[in-house]
Amino acid sequence: MTAAIACPCNSSLDYQNCCARYHAGAKPAAAEDLMRARYSAYAQHNVEFIRDTSLPAQQAQLDMAAITDWSQNSQWLGLEVLAERIHADQRHATVEFIAHWQDAEGQHQHQETSLFIRPAEQWYFYDPNVPLRAERNAPCPCGSRLKFKKCCAAHL
Ligand SMILES: [Zn+2]
Ligand SMILES: [Zn+2]
Repeated sequence: MTAAIACPCNSSLDYQNCCARYHAGAKPAAAEDLMRARYSAYAQHNVEFIRDTSLPAQQAQLDMAAITDWSQNSQWLGLEVLAERIHADQRHATVEFIAHWQDAEGQHQHQETSLFIRPAEQWYFYDPNVPLRAERNAPCPCGSRLKFKKCCAAHL
């Protein structure tokens, strides 16, 4: 038997009972769980998971070198999820959190509210550094097959 390790997301669960299943391919039912699994992926330098759980329309534009650098050169001290709010359309949710990490410059904590989008069955993280743009009547770039104005335009 291998020793249980605390999940890096700071849920107080063992990794095997928390984020491990998502890293193994299970799809989180809640945006909060995806938020936790992404934080744990940063802690484990699993940058493929960070890429694959970003909105597909944004993946090619992610700065993977910067993500890898941040992941590897930080010590990940834990995540606090403050609130999850699912929007009425069930396709968008926000997660308010505080992330803690340490690097050569010292300890940091960062509070943010992130947007998650579920174009079909699966939640994805919306990276605000890669804006989604489309004509209002064009198909939404998130992949939902709705018009942009009826989908993500109202949430960005
Ligand atoms: Zn976890
Ligand atoms: Zn959309």
